[in-house]
Amino acid sequence: MAPSRIPAAQRFAAKIEPGPLPLVRAAAGHCHLWTGATNEHGYGTFWDGRTVKAHRFAYEQANGPIPDGLDVDHICRNRACVNPAHLRAVTHRENILASANHVARRAAVRACPAGHAYDDANTYRARNGTRKCRACKNASTRAARAAAREQQLAPVAPIRTRTATPERQAA
Ligand SMILES: [Zn+2]
Ligand SMILES: [Zn+2]
Repeated sequence: MAPSRIPAAQRFAAKIEPGPLPLVRAAAGHCHLWTGATNEHGYGTFWDGRTVKAHRFAYEQANGPIPDGLDVDHICRNRACVNPAHLRAVTHRENILASANHVARRAAVRACPAGHAYDDANTYRARNGTRKCRACKNASTRAARAAAREQQLAPVAPIRTRTATPERQAA
């Protein structure tokens, strides 16, 4: 008899919390962060009659058994993530290449999503080290200023007539 009668899927779900949006665009939606035990490589582990990797368990819950010899790869590059939508079964070789190419792929992106070049003059680094576009930042700053100006020009309240305004009491 298993030590716990709570179904594995339910015990599993209880150890997930909503995570960040991944930097990798191919991974849609937020990561699901594993809050249970992790191994020395940063992968979540889960007891399912034996210790299994949490992301592999999540993949099998969603897709059925992992085909023989395949790895489960994190599209989002976040090892703590167990969102089935961020997982895919790949050959070990593809998995290694995906990891190795991740940094290179990001570096190979030469322009921001709006098409401005990531050159020295137009690029700054966000706190997390990712590249940010100055042209886009300046455009959003200008838009925010313009919006603030419009707010100031718009009448904030109907103009009151003199009779409706009580005269201030003389001190
Ligand atoms: Zn993820
Ligand atoms: Zn830009």
